[in-house]
Amino acid sequence: MNLKITCIPGDGIGPEIVAEAKKVLDAVAEKYGHDMQYTDILMGGASIDVHGVPLTEEAVETAKSADAVLMGSIGGDTTTSLWYKLPPNLRPEAGLLGIRKALNLFANLRPAVLYEELAGACPLKEEISVAGFDMMIMRELTGGLYFGERKTVEENGVRKAIDTLTYDENEIRRIAIKGFDIARKRRKKVTSVDKANVLDSSRLWRSVVEEVAMDYPDVTLEHMLVDNCAMQLVKDPAQFDVILTENMFGDILSDEASMVTGSIGMLASASLNDTKFGLYEPSHGSAPDIAGKDIANPIATILSASMMLRYSFDLDREADAIDAAVKQVLQDGFRTGDIMSEGCKQVGCKRMGDLIVERIK
Ligand code: NAD
Repeated sequence: MNLKITCIPGDGIGPEIVAEAKKVLDAVAEKYGHDMQYTDILMGGASIDVHGVPLTEEAVETAKSADAVLMGSIGGDTTTSLWYKLPPNLRPEAGLLGIRKALNLFANLRPAVLYEELAGACPLKEEISVAGFDMMIMRELTGGLYFGERKTVEENGVRKAIDTLTYDENEIRRIAIKGFDIARKRRKKVTSVDKANVLDSSRLWRSVVEEVAMDYPDVTLEHMLVDNCAMQLVKDPAQFDVILTENMFGDILSDEASMVTGSIGMLASASLNDTKFGLYEPSHGSAPDIAGKDIANPIATILSASMMLRYSFDLDREADAIDAAVKQVLQDGFRTGDIMSEGCKQVGCKRMGDLIVERIK
């Protein structure tokens, strides 16, 4: 396959971790006979320094012309960096919001996986963590409470704030289809999370998800109320495969799920539109405190590259090869500083990339 990938190295540790992900993709391309062409674009602080804005039209056009986008992370130290003296629409994060909007990325995918080898980092009781877990949170990204009308008024001397939560059936249907498609590539179970005992938007959510489920008879659907889901994530996370939910519930639940893995440097993510196109990036930020020291953990970005192969290109065998190589490196006892534990061998960012490449070849 000929694949055109736009890369956004970004700021902080971004360029270091993207370089390792490219190394891993090149190893996969060589082994399985693909041709990967990369074009780098500037975004965030790196773009501000050169162009005075966090994202240019040209950069957006380059991203749109690719088959997928692989990103490191953007942003600097929010207290000391001069980027944060700029008006909000010119700060690094505006670039990220801008590209998500320009690419119409409405579905956010965040896997939360507990590797046996890293079970010690999991804050849950051992009897729970011992089972491990491997779930995918599919969050709607462009609707709901965060995008509804809002206002603050004063009535009879009392301040009152109003936020509105709106979803139409098309917005729900397109994310539900994504959720079921992803479940088909996994263990074929969708847990749709809502608050249908209270909210109209949740009752519509539930009924549209049920309609979509009819086209996926091989996928099991269950509904769960969001408050129960928050509890179940710490009580029995192994029960989940794909969690499908709206914007705000997904925001909160995906952070909770990440926290129970205990390892921020391991968490990949993807944002998809209604074609196969996606933007793939680690869940963590640009870690300016450790930038340029060759100590960042590149695994979240490498696993994001694996998601790109699986979800944008349907190259499941190649994605499996990356996931297996990561697992093997952990089994062999190699760790970056953030996931280091007694008896393991500490390595830097580049070495970790090399070790994963060796296990792919
Ligand atoms: P952060 O995720 O960058 O860092 C939090 C802590 O985790 C730091 O101690 C950091 O050293 C560590 N860490 C993060 N990733 C790591 C890795 N791969 N390996 C080892 N250690 C790692 O969060 P923050 O400090 O709150 O934010 C720093 C900057 O990143 C800010 O400018 C923020 O706006 C930006 N940010 C960007 C994104 C994005 O690009 N999508 C997401 C979150 C934050």
